[in-house]
Amino acid sequence: MQFKARARAALADATLQANLQKFGSAGLAALRARAVDAYGRDAFERLREAGAEIRDRALAHLDTLIERFEREATRRGATVLFARTAEEARDLVLEICRRHRITKAVKSKSMLSEEAGLNDALGAAGVTPIETDLGEYIIQLAEEPPSHIIAPAVHKSKDQVADLFERFHGEPRKTDIPEMTREARAVLRQHFLSADLGITGANFLIAETGSGLIVTNEGNGRMVTTLPRVHVAITGIEKVIPTLEDFSTLMRLLARSATGQPISNYISFFTGPKGSAEREGPEHMYFILVDGGRTNLVGSDMQAMLRCIRCGACMNHCPVYKTVGGHAYGWVYPGPMGAVLTPSYVGLENALDLPHAATMCNQCGVVCPVKIPLPDLLRKLREQQVDRGLRPWTERFALRLWAWAALRPRAYALGARWAARYLRFLGGGLKRIGRLPFAGGWTLTRDFPAPAGRTFRDLYAKSRRGG
Ligand code: SF4
Repeated sequence: MQFKARARAALADATLQANLQKFGSAGLAALRARAVDAYGRDAFERLREAGAEIRDRALAHLDTLIERFEREATRRGATVLFARTAEEARDLVLEICRRHRITKAVKSKSMLSEEAGLNDALGAAGVTPIETDLGEYIIQLAEEPPSHIIAPAVHKSKDQVADLFERFHGEPRKTDIPEMTREARAVLRQHFLSADLGITGANFLIAETGSGLIVTNEGNGRMVTTLPRVHVAITGIEKVIPTLEDFSTLMRLLARSATGQPISNYISFFTGPKGSAEREGPEHMYFILVDGGRTNLVGSDMQAMLRCIRCGACMNHCPVYKTVGGHAYGWVYPGPMGAVLTPSYVGLENALDLPHAATMCNQCGVVCPVKIPLPDLLRKLREQQVDRGLRPWTERFALRLWAWAALRPRAYALGARWAARYLRFLGGGLKRIGRLPFAGGWTLTRDFPAPAGRTFRDLYAKSRRGG
């Protein structure tokens, strides 16, 4: 199913619409705006410049940074593995599970494990995966994919979550959020204590120290990285940055852009397994660095997309995302960043609608902390679709007709005049068009205001005549 069909289903789902409305008014966008004001708008702009520069510098030296990261991480006792695809990464995790006789894995949020379909593979291999980020835990119970990269269960209402907890926890139904959270924490605590494997992503990998790190608000990341005897961090190769100093700049951007916090509640660093004098930490530590289509973006029109620090600000501000929710985007990454990343990773021909899932209002481009020009990238993807003949013949024909007319001013003026009059006629006395011929999508859920009937050229000519 393509985006359009899923979006239509999302619009028809009254419960989802009510939940999305709450998400919109809950105001992650407003929290970001307040945090930026408190930091100082000009200073924040300079911070965005610095963030984009750090990410570009890291991408320009990605090969040497990855080598340095591998050297430093190995020196500190970690094992660094590489996977060309998300599927290879999944197989590496399964191999680690076999080697260490793992039967239960606790997980902190990892988008790459979603790319790899890791939970299903673990389940099939006899390893029970337990998501421990509260949002991820909720959608795991609901057997759904995440709908937002930092708030995976944002499409669920409190009552829907209460139903899930009652069904799976075997406790009386609760609807008080602190009580529900306490109940989930009690359940998850048992899993933290009994799991053999912790699986995390990594917000960044630090080349100079061979460390990975995760940024969380719930503290589950600390448990996942320290309690089980084996820890696997699985992440994209583009996450390597040179130094801790670079991280401190990016962190100032990340938390403010994501949730409006000056800093997140927890930042967990992991640098190799526990040493002989240390009481806490895993006995074995693996990093799996995944390409998964990322190197195809290096040097391409889409390279800027690799700067992404996964803050979610673009979706918090996107009118399309806020109306249809994350599942409509059909794969791991929703919103404007997903509309660029998904076609880039899975192939343009497999995500035909996504470059068009945008109003081009540039809200995403304005708020992106690392200045990714998302509308420009979407436009380039659209151009590529046209160049490769991937658009429907009706659209290609209409554009050719328009191009023909645009090169002939008289024909264009005549066509525009007749079209304006015809549309005014369609608008009738109400001056609103309920169904637009040949472009029904525009009037599927709203009326189209009828034009006045005269074109700009007519009005301009009249004013020149002094009329
Ligand atoms: S594209 Fe920019 S705004 Fe969107 S998630 Fe990535 S860094 Fe954040």
